[in-house]
Amino acid sequence: MDTKKEWIIAGPCALESREILRLCIQELKQLGVNAIRAGLWKPRTLPGWEGMGEEGLPILLEETLNEELIPATEIMNQEQAKLVAEALRTIDPSAEMILWIGARNQNHLEQRAIAEALAEGPEGIYLMFKNAPWEDERHWLGIYQHLLSGGFPEERLLICHRGFHPGRAENPLGRRNLPNYEMAMRIREKTGAPLILDPSHIGGEATKVIEVMKEAEVYSFDGLLVEVHLEPERARTDASQQLTLEKFREALASWRSIVA
Ligand code: PEP
Ligand code: MN
Repeated sequence: MDTKKEWIIAGPCALESREILRLCIQELKQLGVNAIRAGLWKPRTLPGWEGMGEEGLPILLEETLNEELIPATEIMNQEQAKLVAEALRTIDPSAEMILWIGARNQNHLEQRAIAEALAEGPEGIYLMFKNAPWEDERHWLGIYQHLLSGGFPEERLLICHRGFHPGRAENPLGRRNLPNYEMAMRIREKTGAPLILDPSHIGGEATKVIEVMKEAEVYSFDGLLVEVHLEPERARTDASQQLTLEKFREALASWRSIVA
């Protein structure tokens, strides 16, 4: 994929079933979304359902690749990275895929081990790294350096800003996480990698997610990672922050009219 293009990655927080994913993909495809997110291994704040895991992997790959869309999912460790790489190699070794390292996955040894495994291909894999939950520019840049030191090619790295935990900071808008757009722009400047905004984990609730998309339009993000569910109230994870298709369609149109 041309890293200069618009990256719109949308889909459910977690993969819940083949049927739900398929319906969601059909709708998102019509909006010109190019990549479909669906978490297989879900890190949870409290114990609960942790995603379909390995069982969901062929579902995610088949349903997206059959529609000529790019699958996107989070991996937590090297074992999962290898499983995904092997499945992609088997289904279509020339296909593109986006894998990401989530905010809570801050063990640099594991980050580097993931980079090492994925450096072996398939070559269509992009590796996106989110900022850590705490606000630390040096640490964020450090993730980039650890991934490079693991041998992953810099031209296939993507940055993702998902906000920082408010901690003791003031949070008048009651957001789940607080953005630092200027810091995100500096990370892009220093790395040269495309910068994706995750408004879902910043807003934490559908109306706030839309507010975040709106306020971020003035920044020149290279794309979006947004949680969209056809029936958010029935979602098994992050139900309150997933956008309905109607809301996403509207917010995306506004985003494109300014950013694109
Ligand atoms: C996610 O994107 O589903 C996720 C778990 O996000 P984060 O790592 O930003 O909390
Ligand atoms: Mn989520």
